[in-house]
Amino acid sequence: MAKTLFQKIIDRELPATIVFEDEHCLAFRDINPGAPVHILVIPRKPIPRLCDATVEDQALLGHLMLTANKIAEAEGFGGAFRVVVNNGAEAGQSVFHLHLHILAGRPLKWPPG
Ligand code: AMP
Repeated sequence: MAKTLFQKIIDRELPATIVFEDEHCLAFRDINPGAPVHILVIPRKPIPRLCDATVEDQALLGHLMLTANKIAEAEGFGGAFRVVVNNGAEAGQSVFHLHLHILAGRPLKWPPG
């Protein structure tokens, strides 16, 4: 199967502005930001969609959320940010490697479009 864009970023075959990484995940700035802060947090493990995660991934999913907290705090928006996961093409997912969007730095309306 062809590598996803995000797998290429993990493998350093595509450039990205990486703001955080550890043994479980990587976070980098979205190339087409929807807010002043728009960062994607991805697991190193290639889980295509959130609905493909299993109970084995429970700790990893928690780690991604806590990493989002840490990044929002480091960006200066620890008390006001949004985390979004688009699951499936009809829900807006375009890259099939699980990712959390962190959005911050402007008023965020609800519900999203
Ligand atoms: P989604 O539509 O939820 O799958 O989100 C995919 C996101 O990846 C979009 O917000 C894109 O702007 C972003 N994106 C696509 N290619 C890159 C890239 N090479 N580097 C950083 N972000 C990207």
